[in-house]
Amino acid sequence: MNIPRIFNITESTHRIHNPFTPDKFATLGAALRLSAAARVLDLGCGSGEMLCTWARDHGIVGTGIDMSPLFTAQAKQRAEELGVAHQVEFIHGDAAGYVSNEKVDVAACVGATWIGGGVAGTISLLTQSLRTGGIILIGEPYWRQMPPTEEIAKGCLANAISDFLPLSELIASFGRLGHDVVEMVLANQDGWDRYEAAKWLTMRRWLETNPDDELAEEVRAKLTTEPERHAAYTREYLGWGVFALMPRFGLKQA
Ligand code: SAH
Repeated sequence: MNIPRIFNITESTHRIHNPFTPDKFATLGAALRLSAAARVLDLGCGSGEMLCTWARDHGIVGTGIDMSPLFTAQAKQRAEELGVAHQVEFIHGDAAGYVSNEKVDVAACVGATWIGGGVAGTISLLTQSLRTGGIILIGEPYWRQMPPTEEIAKGCLANAISDFLPLSELIASFGRLGHDVVEMVLANQDGWDRYEAAKWLTMRRWLETNPDDELAEEVRAKLTTEPERHAAYTREYLGWGVFALMPRFGLKQA
């Protein structure tokens, strides 16, 4: 079981597989006021940077599930490196339908909401693992500027303008799904550069050592076009953030 190989190539050196930088995850961890030994579940955890750093900085315990064997192995290695391997567990597998045995304080899906078939489905899935009073984290893109044409949306690698909402509407949609937005931390353009531009050097080095690989042509084409595409489209039009949600029905009426 694996994700398409191209991602394992282009993101092989990423610790964070989204436009967040380490300071953003630190800000989010502090914003959530995590208690020591809080239990965190992370579906599509990538290379485990959120769980590992929160284990180190806040004493949380956690489980991450990811479909990439490479990223899962990197997550385990990172946990060893940070001395938190006894606090965090990384499972290689499909997170679709995954519900934890023990209820968690924080249930997260950060940049992988297709796992639950979209934002609404992912919130439902995470809710099944969440203790009463717990927090759901959703990492999701939004339109920082509305693309004037469908072509521009495609330049951002969206299928259509309708794939994403502007920030205020994304926030409103969480309300319609019955959730309070209780915190948010947003990425910025520098963060997009860290996510996208870090792929370029990785691709260049990979091409130097794998000139005869079956994906060499595809990677060559991407390296040629991606910097300009990123600057013209993603960097300008796409925003990204992590939203902390709590179900409204869980709140006792005054
Ligand atoms: N949350 C991580 C990774 C985001 S990138 C971070 O912030 O760094 C999306 C991740 O979802 C990738 O690591 C990919 O391997 C993983 N993924 C994609 N489909 C998945 C699935 N069905 N089950 C589990 N993980 C999946």
